[in-house]
Amino acid sequence: MDLKAIVRENIWKLKPYSCARDEFDGEASIFLDANENPFNEPICRYPDPLQLELKEELSKLRGVAEKQIFVGNGSDEVIDLLFRIFCEPGVDNYIAINPTYGMYKVQADINNVEYRSVDLDHNFNLIAERVLDQVDSNSKIIFICSPNNPSGNILNRDQIKVILDSFNGVVVVDEAYIDFASEPSFCEELSNYSNLLVMQTMSKAWGLAGARVGMAYGSSDIIELFNRVKFPYNVNLLSQRAAVDMLRKRDQVEDWIKSIVEQREWMRGELLLLPMTINVYPSDSNFLLVKSLKASEIFTELLKRGIVVRDRSKVVLCDDCLRITIGTEDENQQLISVLKEII
Ligand SMILES: *Cc1c(COP(=O)(O)O)cnc(C)c1O
Repeated sequence: MDLKAIVRENIWKLKPYSCARDEFDGEASIFLDANENPFNEPICRYPDPLQLELKEELSKLRGVAEKQIFVGNGSDEVIDLLFRIFCEPGVDNYIAINPTYGMYKVQADINNVEYRSVDLDHNFNLIAERVLDQVDSNSKIIFICSPNNPSGNILNRDQIKVILDSFNGVVVVDEAYIDFASEPSFCEELSNYSNLLVMQTMSKAWGLAGARVGMAYGSSDIIELFNRVKFPYNVNLLSQRAAVDMLRKRDQVEDWIKSIVEQREWMRGELLLLPMTINVYPSDSNFLLVKSLKASEIFTELLKRGIVVRDRSKVVLCDDCLRITIGTEDENQQLISVLKEII
């Protein structure tokens, strides 16, 4: 892929802000370079702009070089940067599957980038050819969310590779839920595809939604562009520490994942026994998409009893569907008993 050909010209030419900590390099014990207040350690200090300690942990976890890792203020920041780096407002377009995560379109709309939507099939499978049919010379990004939100399923690996092989732009594989899936991450394909960008987050399996830490893994050339365009101190000090701590507690996280996956399968069984259930779709995530009779009424009845799920019944291909996150064993049991009561 010819990166220069797909990057906005102003971004290609951008001379980034150089912050105090960028210009200093080496060991020091007295920091008089950044006009900080010295009396409130550690939070009085600006955070590491390149989050090197955190990237070291991520690198060990995913087997990806540190210079191929970007860390942002949630995946939200990664998505916004993608549009700002690659898409000329009012000119370029991007393609995303439908139904999928709603944030791509919001960020694109903010950046005035045209959306080309491609429906999944009725079982939420990806058809590469349909996606490629939408590509023209102004198509810069294709978003593939796998496991997909709201359907929950992992998408066919070979179909994703067909897209990677044919598209002369960035193919984003959003793996927010990959830790709940039985298939490996696309990170292992990074050396085969210079146009691949894998997005992950610490908001789901890693239990850090409140800290806002999202990652992108890609070629070092793409990651360098991200680093140039981001706010200098985009991930705050407390969040960097929380993320590093969590990555050093992998046993804990693996226990959580195991419990959530077990509970998911228990919930599937229970939901299938309910008379209103039409279908529970296969899930590689920490949620289930459930097609049900009277979905909207059930949603409202649950709310009256203090339980909030996501009503997806107005979404393409998701008529009569609720999306239910897997909670603790106790929460899941309460949900099922309330659903039995509602009948
Ligand atoms: C939850 C979710 C994210 C996570 O976003 P953050 O901004 O990192 O919290 C990203 N992509 C998808 C598809 C999601 O469902």
